[in-house]
Amino acid sequence: MKVLSVASEIFPLVKTGGLADVAGALPAALARQGVEMRSLVPGYPKIMTALDDVAEVAPFEGGRILSGRAAGLALHVVDRPDLYDRDGGPYTNLTGQDWPDNWRRFAALARAAETLTRTGDWRPDLVHAHDWQAGLVPVYLKSRETGIPSIITIHNIAFQGQFGAEIFGDLDLPASVFAMEGVEYYGDVGFLKGGLAMADAITTVSPTYAQEIRDPRFGMGLEGLIAARGAAVHGIVNGIDTGVWDPATDPHLAATYTVRTLSRRKRNTAALEARFGLEPGGPLFAVVSRLTWQKGLDLLAASVEHLVGLGGRLAVLGSGEGGLEAAFQEAAARHPWRVGCVIGYDEALSHLVQGGADAILVPSRFEPCGLTQLYALRYGCVPVVARTGGLADTVVDANGAALRAGVATGLVHAPDDADALRAALGRAVALYGTPGWAKLQRNGMKADVSWDASAAEYAALYRALAGGFS
Ligand code: ADP
Repeated sequence: MKVLSVASEIFPLVKTGGLADVAGALPAALARQGVEMRSLVPGYPKIMTALDDVAEVAPFEGGRILSGRAAGLALHVVDRPDLYDRDGGPYTNLTGQDWPDNWRRFAALARAAETLTRTGDWRPDLVHAHDWQAGLVPVYLKSRETGIPSIITIHNIAFQGQFGAEIFGDLDLPASVFAMEGVEYYGDVGFLKGGLAMADAITTVSPTYAQEIRDPRFGMGLEGLIAARGAAVHGIVNGIDTGVWDPATDPHLAATYTVRTLSRRKRNTAALEARFGLEPGGPLFAVVSRLTWQKGLDLLAASVEHLVGLGGRLAVLGSGEGGLEAAFQEAAARHPWRVGCVIGYDEALSHLVQGGADAILVPSRFEPCGLTQLYALRYGCVPVVARTGGLADTVVDANGAALRAGVATGLVHAPDDADALRAALGRAVALYGTPGWAKLQRNGMKADVSWDASAAEYAALYRALAGGFS
């Protein structure tokens, strides 16, 4: 069957977050399930430059829809220089402010998807929209009676694409769509809201997050709609690219290793110590993260003394909120040789951290899926995570029963609770150096964090909705 995926970013061409990784990885994973997926993306300069084998599919609102290939991906591209040919990011200008016409830019992306269901010689059997930027896809497909089913995936419900009601007249939608069953959202126009109301199915990136967003503490205003759509909501956990993230071949490591040569990790640990200015001795805890409230790292910053008191060490790689950056820099100054901090985004160093640290800390307040704990599992770096969203679904806590059954892969603690985080650090230090710790490492490395199982779930859902495909 043929599926059109609609996303505002796609790895490796344009990336600001996990959405790009998923959009970039799904086509190959789904090909193995017999699904032919093409991706519709905006014609940002980086995409226009990379595009090969270009052909025009259809004229589109003063511009064109193109087909082509880039970075191994089969793409459809909305060539509208008036909307996308700009310096800056996919959503913001060079100074980081949202483009004021984002609603226009992403409504056009959704209309282009609808156009592709009735023009050109490649017509999708189903359209898969990602996040608020593609939120109007189900709205156009339904209100224009294309008969093509749609799925919308929520990667983070905190980002909703909410705009003033005055834009509605420019969306070229029937007036009846400005209603509770459509895009109307607290008197405004909600792109994600409209997609959630009108898609045939809703998915999000872990089963636990799919439950959590029915609750006002996580749903951010959309909990009622999510609960009402109950049976149409599915949680499908993300996978990782096990070719890019493979400790046996990773070029960013000082020493590559496998589950049978774990002792070689020590060379990576030594490289990390040099990089973060740390002395040897004691378990090395690490963070690789955006430094934001969502990630719960203020709780860690408040627990540094406790961690050091336990004999632990801490390496932080991250960037984000000024207050958190300063808190970790100050902690490093207070505890030279025990706490180190690199402020910035460094893909290569993030690999070395996973390959050399003893444990990765992910104390998030909410986490739709989370990728860093999946990399950690694959790299024998024990994840210590909050019990929320995808973290809860992918890490098995080393409680007595799980240890006895030999299935534990990490440590899990209550979210948004510094005492619970400190208790988990204590449990980690107690296990460190015992055979139980090595067992956690080995179990993690053997866990399936690839896309295979999740791609099969997406394919089954597509087939159930599009019907008649085997
Ligand atoms: P989110 O999408 O909320 O930021 P995820 O865990 O899903 O969280 O994905 C974060 C991704 O960004 C991971 O691939 C992680 O390794 C990477 N990352 C985050 N901060 C940094 C950093 N400072 N340097 C390098 N990689 C980072």
